[in-house]
Amino acid sequence: MAKITNPFEIYRLLPQTNCGECALPNCLAFSAAVIKGQKSLAECPYIKSADKEQLANRIGIREDFSRARGEDLKILQSRVSNIDFSTKAEPLGAKFVSGKLAVKSLGKDFFIDTNGNVTSECHTHVWMTVPLLSYIIHSSGENITGRWVPFRELKDGGPMNPLFVQRGEKPLKKLLDSNSELLGDLISMFSGERADNSLFSSDIALSLYPLPKVPVLICYWNPEGDMDSDLNIFFDVSAEKHLNIESIFSLGVGLVMMFEKIARKHS
Ligand code: SF4
Repeated sequence: MAKITNPFEIYRLLPQTNCGECALPNCLAFSAAVIKGQKSLAECPYIKSADKEQLANRIGIREDFSRARGEDLKILQSRVSNIDFSTKAEPLGAKFVSGKLAVKSLGKDFFIDTNGNVTSECHTHVWMTVPLLSYIIHSSGENITGRWVPFRELKDGGPMNPLFVQRGEKPLKKLLDSNSELLGDLISMFSGERADNSLFSSDIALSLYPLPKVPVLICYWNPEGDMDSDLNIFFDVSAEKHLNIESIFSLGVGLVMMFEKIARKHS
């Protein structure tokens, strides 16, 4: 049976009460520690015995997350090599150009060859190339619905939502709290659009297209009186027809990491 290398497979089996009895602050930290070999399943008293037995032989130790993502990339590249780009381009909202697939991401063309190699006029990152190849392989071609939902309301989003808030929404809120001009810059740099801010009664709403059929809506609420500012990242309700939840997570958090890098350079 395949080894478990994704902490969320363990997290799903936990009571998610963050009780701290395992001497870690929360269940997510415990899941990650188990994958790294720093904790054993036995240290959480609330995992069912049957789950413990079933999981015990499937836990692989992932020392280096980025190396593991590189391994994911190789598997995806080999799967892309079996795809007929000429018929797949249209349902993906992409183009078939000189034997390659041209996929727009944040307003820039990314070219994918038949070996799954990704090139672009701008720098490519693993956080982007993994969801991009995954999109080519898994997308159903379904059209965008225009109905936005937060990450936690995606079908498989619940268990990963605390980490999405921690790694995606909180850092982006902090960034906009200190640099409210940034959203305007992001619009021009990444072909974003001002969105209808009356939809969620936000002060600012910005939509971006990291993949042609996987748009992202960022809504920001200014602080008011005693109320702190707030920020949510929304996805079209059809997002899981194109990507699995791990790739949606990677896309959202990767975007935020890129914005942080840009903000640091500009400050
Ligand atoms: S003991 Fe179990 S339930 Fe409590 S925080 Fe640790 S992993 Fe979560």
